[in-house]
Amino acid sequence: MTRPFSKILIANRGEIACRVIRTSHRLGIATVAVHSEVDARALHVELADEAIHIGPSPAAESYLVGERIIDAARATGAEAIHPGYGFLSENPDFVEAVEAAGLTFIGPSAQAIRAMGLKDAAKDLMKKAGVPVVEGYQGDRQEPEFLAEEAARIGYPVLIKARAGGGGKGMRKVDAPGDFAEALQSARREGQAAFGDPHVLIEKFITAPRHIEVQVFGDSHGRVVHLFERDCSLQRRHQKVIEEAPAPGMSDEVRAAMTGAAVRAAEAIGYTGAGTIEFIADGSAALRTDGFWFMEMNTRLQVEHPVTEAITGVDLVEWQIRVAAGEPLPLAQDALSIGGHAFEARLYAEDPAKGFLPATGVLEHLTFSDRARNDTGVTGGDAISPFYDPMIAKVITHAPDRDAARRALVSALQETHVVGTATNLRFLTALADHPRFADGRFDTGLIGTELEDLVAGESPGALHLAFAAIAALDLDLTDRHLGWRLWGDAVHDVIFMHDGAPLECWLVVHAPRSVTLHREGEEPVTLFDLVRENGRFKARTGAARQRVEATVRVANRQEGRLVSILTQGVSHELLLPDLRKGTAFVDASDSVLAPMTGVVVVLDVGVGDAVEGGQRLAVMEAMKMETALISPRAGTVAEVHCTAGASVEGGAVLVTLEPEEAA
Ligand code: ADP
Ligand code: ADP
Ligand code: MG
Repeated sequence: MTRPFSKILIANRGEIACRVIRTSHRLGIATVAVHSEVDARALHVELADEAIHIGPSPAAESYLVGERIIDAARATGAEAIHPGYGFLSENPDFVEAVEAAGLTFIGPSAQAIRAMGLKDAAKDLMKKAGVPVVEGYQGDRQEPEFLAEEAARIGYPVLIKARAGGGGKGMRKVDAPGDFAEALQSARREGQAAFGDPHVLIEKFITAPRHIEVQVFGDSHGRVVHLFERDCSLQRRHQKVIEEAPAPGMSDEVRAAMTGAAVRAAEAIGYTGAGTIEFIADGSAALRTDGFWFMEMNTRLQVEHPVTEAITGVDLVEWQIRVAAGEPLPLAQDALSIGGHAFEARLYAEDPAKGFLPATGVLEHLTFSDRARNDTGVTGGDAISPFYDPMIAKVITHAPDRDAARRALVSALQETHVVGTATNLRFLTALADHPRFADGRFDTGLIGTELEDLVAGESPGALHLAFAAIAALDLDLTDRHLGWRLWGDAVHDVIFMHDGAPLECWLVVHAPRSVTLHREGEEPVTLFDLVRENGRFKARTGAARQRVEATVRVANRQEGRLVSILTQGVSHELLLPDLRKGTAFVDASDSVLAPMTGVVVVLDVGVGDAVEGGQRLAVMEAMKMETALISPRAGTVAEVHCTAGASVEGGAVLVTLEPEEAA
């Protein structure tokens, strides 16, 4: 096979940069990484043959500065630029600048990106190409009163969308006319902050919707093929969480209609490279040929492309590179087929129990399961910084049928171990194991309606607690005197905090290498022949003296010692509180804290205001996402410690209420 280019530059970071580098090297292509300040030692820098520092940590000063990236390509002699996803991948001005510099952009033409870049114009274009679109208003008028009338005409519920939107940002569902004005304002603000464009469109909200998208691919010889569909209906905040291919319940007839519409859409704009046509489908009953509508086209490689790779055996990045070099599509439509079923789960540093609040921190420990393809851009010791998307990895499984692939996903997630930051790992596992997900009949509302169950912490069992207690108390297992007391065995009372609730147990040390963990209402667990080697424990347990192993990490935190433990495929985090700092666990109901470092965009209250429980006090923006801060109870505002527009640190006190009067 020919080598399409001799050297390419990857204008991205994280897992996708690593992903592109891997395929490039397999094709014998040399790679150039670019990086910001905080990414100087990132994995993508390490994997690439060369690396160029392009600026400070904020993306706006590094990964989004096209000029510096083009300069880096020139300086290193790269012939082409792969943009990954996000950042400059859908920026037509960048594409033109790349081409003007005599370089190749590995992606579609600037004209195709422009045609699909704004959701309103794209919908008009698709309508003309005979592709069904969601009913709505996508015109130029933006007066709030006019848009409210349009919403009423379309019929509630409606969805307000920033026309420049992406990644689920700038979108608000409105159920009733009374909520329209405020939702509009908020969507416009988010659109402005994230994309520099407050312009919105209004859409009918499809009830029981399923998100089904089609992977398309075009070459510069006028050919377009599709690589089947992906179902991305498992979403939170309109962002994908678990994706799969093929879509459950898809009939040959509906597949033919959908993929046909997708290919028509791509052909209508003379599309080249990898692209995705996203449809919203009526999921209230079986899929129908007249029950899906175009939502938008993403003119880039999608985050969830690996599930398509798994079922087709195609390396989509290789295709991107070959097509950009002018080669024809490697396979014709009739040479493509679906093999088995695949899932992808997006592992994020975020706290599902706190409204999926993005988290930051150093990944003190990170290991993946051998059952899965794990696409990541970080390794143990790396930090999840507040500057970029907090994705840690994508966990991808593939098997002959849906249930086998789903069970592999559950196991792979259980065997994934992350220490150092909050993650959605347990949430993902619960989701992958959820009966409604297992039977394949769900819509985009599943996470919302089952949220309470999905974030409910499963309580760690006695085996977990036993290892956690030894690690948290830092018991010296070799101490001959450890278990020997004049009055008998040594007993340690241990109170852990688990998911914000105390969890009490006691550990009895019988002899140097033997302990029993007791917990009210549970069978005690005894461990013998305990040995500890750094972060690993080995022991025997039960009458059969069967072997057990555990990986344990302990981190010292302000609030105490945080123990993360993985045994028998299940991991848990437990905090051994530092009781000298007792206030840390008192419910701080009198103070509203900044949940993260960011900017206060709206401040709703002033000193002396009476507030209701649940009333919004302020809106913070971090990572281009808005979070409303609400009052924990009814009361009077005693102090306000911030101003609108102010940057605040995570954990800072923003608003304090007057103490509650004794009843
Ligand atoms: P879609 O545009 O349909 O949401 P993807 O899920 O592939 O498709 O992601 C869209 C874009 O949004 C990507 O470029 C990705 O970098 C970005 N993105 C996805 N999730 C997040 C997130 N949690 N925070 C910030 N950006 C995100
Ligand atoms: P983004 O560019 O942020 O990906 P999309 O237009 O693709 O924006 O919409 C994101 C998600 O919002 C979809 O995957 C879908 O779950 C939901 N959504 C979008 N439009 C509608 C609609 N008209 N009715 C119901 N849900 C919708
Ligand atoms: Mg989308």
